[in-house]
Amino acid sequence: MTIHKNTAKKKDKDLLETDVQWIKGVGPRRKTLLEQMHIFTVSDLLNTIPNRYEDRQDHAAIGEIAEAVPVSVSGNILAAGWVTPRYGKGYFEIRVSDDTGVLACRWFGAHFLKDVMLVGAHITLHGKVSKHKGHWVMIQGEYELGEDEDAEDSVHLSRIVPVYPLTESLGQKNMRTILYNAVQKYCEHIKETLPDEIRIRRKLIGAAEAYRQVHFPDSLEMAAAARTRLVFEEFLVAQMLVLKRRASVKAKAGFALKAAGPLPKAYVDSLPFSLTSGQKEVLKEIVADMASGLPMNRLLQGDVGSGKTVVAALAICQAIDSGVQCAIMVPTEVLAVQHFKNLAPFFTASGIESAILTGDTSAADRKNAYAGFKSGRIKLVIGTHALFYDKVEFKRLGLVIIDEQHKFGVVQRASLYEKGTRPHVLVMTATPIPRTLSMTVYGDLDVSIIKELPAGRQEIVTRVIEEDKLQDAYGFISKQVAKGRQAYMVYPLVSESEKLDLHAAETMYHRLKDSWFKNERVGLIHGRMKSEEKNNIMEQFKSHKIDILVATTVIEVGVDVPNANLMLIGNAERFGLSQLHQLRGRVGRGTYKSFCILQGEARGLDSWRRLKIMEETTDGFIIAEEDLRIRGMGNILGKEQSGFSAIKLGDPMKDNDILIEARSEATRICEIDPFGEHPDFKPLWKRVEALADQVGSLVQVG
Ligand code: ADP
Ligand code: MG
Repeated sequence: MTIHKNTAKKKDKDLLETDVQWIKGVGPRRKTLLEQMHIFTVSDLLNTIPNRYEDRQDHAAIGEIAEAVPVSVSGNILAAGWVTPRYGKGYFEIRVSDDTGVLACRWFGAHFLKDVMLVGAHITLHGKVSKHKGHWVMIQGEYELGEDEDAEDSVHLSRIVPVYPLTESLGQKNMRTILYNAVQKYCEHIKETLPDEIRIRRKLIGAAEAYRQVHFPDSLEMAAAARTRLVFEEFLVAQMLVLKRRASVKAKAGFALKAAGPLPKAYVDSLPFSLTSGQKEVLKEIVADMASGLPMNRLLQGDVGSGKTVVAALAICQAIDSGVQCAIMVPTEVLAVQHFKNLAPFFTASGIESAILTGDTSAADRKNAYAGFKSGRIKLVIGTHALFYDKVEFKRLGLVIIDEQHKFGVVQRASLYEKGTRPHVLVMTATPIPRTLSMTVYGDLDVSIIKELPAGRQEIVTRVIEEDKLQDAYGFISKQVAKGRQAYMVYPLVSESEKLDLHAAETMYHRLKDSWFKNERVGLIHGRMKSEEKNNIMEQFKSHKIDILVATTVIEVGVDVPNANLMLIGNAERFGLSQLHQLRGRVGRGTYKSFCILQGEARGLDSWRRLKIMEETTDGFIIAEEDLRIRGMGNILGKEQSGFSAIKLGDPMKDNDILIEARSEATRICEIDPFGEHPDFKPLWKRVEALADQVGSLVQVG
């Protein structure tokens, strides 16, 4: 630090970092509630923006109330008292009069109001009115006591009122008061981050004004303008970080893996099919990346069943021929075992040692694996989280492949990258990420897409049914099994939940095997089993010693048994659409016509309509977009998985226009002032730095 540091600035910054506890209206109890919402500082609080607004500027004349809608009224309290009806709950009631009429207002169970609402006092109210016995009554309205002259300072009424996201037990009124106090006291200390030139050109309002207006707006137009400004800045900073990281990754040398060795051809020759043109295309891109001498950072998207594993295997062949080690990371034990059984035989036959490393690898095998990685003897490892252990060291790790990436947390991935000196990274996912999102979240990755499925794939016929049709479905399954096919039956939980009436896998397994499917061979697999047991069951299913596999979502990703052509999912409404799509992708893998039966809640509910989308399409992109629309981005990628937990205000889908503007501005800034040397851009680059600290090193690669 230099001696001449700008102390005034520092003080302002510190002020915004003040603990929320010191805001008027927040005590230790509310501090805890705010912390549950991840609000720790004044700055966090100011960045909690309203979900919506209510316009309570216009007061209705009591005598003219004619509709059962929310209204604002004000007047004097004529009468007040506790009412104990013969039946039902007691309530506190007041009669309010303005010049035009009298309105009854009730609050159930609110004894304390008798000390607050005194006859003769002036009161302002907002709430929904409804007719009771021919008279308009306002139930549980929001109120503020005091004279008209105070209306200027009114927080809850006589203005456009913000409505905030809440946790349980922190009331809307409390939250609003806390924010009002924070805005009053701290907004003036907010410093401008956007250069004037950008602000003027893009017609964006100033930072301090934006915070004031987003919370307590003068008009709905101002509220919208304020939000736009804040979202723009948020996107801009995120995009600057993404572009900067992309530039710095590209600037560093990596392995140039371009040997013309024997493995790729040998592998292709070992396959019982030829590559699809989609596979060939993405492979070309991957091979070019690996040969370039710059570290690859590529996202490989391909719908469930598009054959990503083969592409991965060929990238590995290229890398091993070029003299480096490779690691495949998968989210589940089952998938690790499957990949290992699939790939190891080929590599072993080619004289290349590979290993599997999961949480259940025995101590002896583990020790051997560690030694093999370190000496460089083991060329390929397939593993789960166990690969993150500190002890795992590689001699020359040149390629990291992350399969089914949506299942991984951010930090975990980052730690594996650190094990190699800038290894090439290929991230594979079957969760198609809409363009808007991939720009925000994966803005620093190159993207390859396998557009088609291998030829001859069977269409999957999907039907949504209610519980009363289950017996027909069971009959259908028996018929398919009699024809030599196999089926999955998936249920949301391992054991029956007492609270919810759900079909749990374990219960269903016992019930089905002793009744409907007495003659079939039924197996059970779930995540709480020991891995040996799980592998054993999967092996039996694969080799057709089991006809019907009752399962939880452990089979969600990657499991590949082409003879299985039927899946029944119980309580399907419990799953997200993208997850159902993943599950459904377990069938339709062989040459048999395939079926997916979704047993859902009663018709007419929203969840039923949602399930019907699964009947209409098998296109993962459409399903993902639909899921995104219904459930929002956080739920699909998971907050921490998106790598952009920092995006709080904006919604890349809804605010797409702002995102595109921010992107183009970020590109321009990164060109003209990539190192933050110009004073105009310093405040922005400071925010970029802060964001980088917050999201960690992951964003570097996705
Ligand atoms: P995913 O992209 O979902 O990971 P997989 O790699 O598991 O898909 O492949 C799904 C199935 O398709 C596997 O049984 C695989 O052997 C097969 N497969 C892969 N590529 C082809 C191809 N070009 N032609 C025919 N079948 C293929
Ligand atoms: Mg896969």
